[in-house]
Amino acid sequence: MSQSDQLKSHIDELVPDLIAMRRDLHEHPELAFEEERTSGIVAKRLRTMGLEVQTGIAKTGVVGLLHGGASKPGAKTIAIRADMDALPIQEMNDINYRSTIDGKMHACGHDGHTSILLAVADLLNKRREELNGNVKFVFQPAEERIGGAEPMIKEGAMQDVDGIIGLHLISDYPLGRVGVRSGSVFASADRFILTVKGKGGHAAMPETTVDPIVISAYIVTALQTLISRETSPFSPAVITIGTIQAGTAFNIIPESAEMHGTMRAFNADHRSKLTRRISEIAQGIATAMGGSCEVEVLDGCPPCVNDAKMTEIVRDAAISTVGEKEVDASEDVLTAGSDDMACFLEAVPGCYFIVGAKNEEKGAKYPHHHPRFNIDEDALPIGVEVLTRAAMDFLKQ
Ligand SMILES: [Zn+2]
Ligand SMILES: [Zn+2]
Repeated sequence: MSQSDQLKSHIDELVPDLIAMRRDLHEHPELAFEEERTSGIVAKRLRTMGLEVQTGIAKTGVVGLLHGGASKPGAKTIAIRADMDALPIQEMNDINYRSTIDGKMHACGHDGHTSILLAVADLLNKRREELNGNVKFVFQPAEERIGGAEPMIKEGAMQDVDGIIGLHLISDYPLGRVGVRSGSVFASADRFILTVKGKGGHAAMPETTVDPIVISAYIVTALQTLISRETSPFSPAVITIGTIQAGTAFNIIPESAEMHGTMRAFNADHRSKLTRRISEIAQGIATAMGGSCEVEVLDGCPPCVNDAKMTEIVRDAAISTVGEKEVDASEDVLTAGSDDMACFLEAVPGCYFIVGAKNEEKGAKYPHHHPRFNIDEDALPIGVEVLTRAAMDFLKQ
């Protein structure tokens, strides 16, 4: 049996356990920074394998370190990352491993990511003696709130790491397909709050007031010109105002108006330009109309930018797993969603890729964060194989 066939047959043996683990995590979802049970299971498994385990990183994060038995001086370390958190959603799926916790659900596939990485740890651990280098298994909390990756890095999770890889299962990307692309793949995300201050008064005497609602209306419209007039058609970006709050009655001009919005971009320069221009436009319009505007930008997450060399390694691993025809580098791989894997990718060169998990026949067809979200579990062994091969190939180079 060739080495490649041997790996496939080892993965086949792991599939029942892989699915059982995913379903167990699915039944017991935990929200951001509350992943106590999940991280307990992860730490216990990694310790049973004999890895060096650190817990309580960024509250509920876990790191397991596998020392390769064939490490020569100067050998490298590759990190593989999975996120563990669930979402505050009431599950509406009719399945026998439905969430047992009201109002909480794994509706993004992170139960899959965690179980995939545990299987990868098992496989690589069994090949420990062949490995020229180390593998760091990084289980992060709080991806959904964009908050787990950064504190893990601050607490040293990327120390002595030479490269990082990770995957996201995607429910609207066909099963059997793997999307791997160099450069930006997930957008940045920044939340902003615009507080427009005017001067309140009687609705029938506007000349004695400065109307913050009219100012806000101009700002909302003008912000879209940042996309239509100041952004190249070849550089996608999004600005959305999601809420506008102002006023108490039809015949009163209020003192102020508050707008909340989000901005997405695919590279750091574009992101910082749009951030600056949102402020300039909002403040410029408000001032010109006699009012003022306070601008607050929060929750920043950079875009996920893949390194060309790391992408090549993952691409080759994906080809060995699903065949060249099913490995996709097209724009279908891009998403305007964000992921704080971006922080790890800023810290060390890496590659974040997507694994198709859509299968209408099995009901795996709803979008992420939907109460009927589900994945085709046949995607799990595909993810396991790509990560395992990529890690082994990285350490060979
Ligand atoms: Zn999500
Ligand atoms: Zn996710």
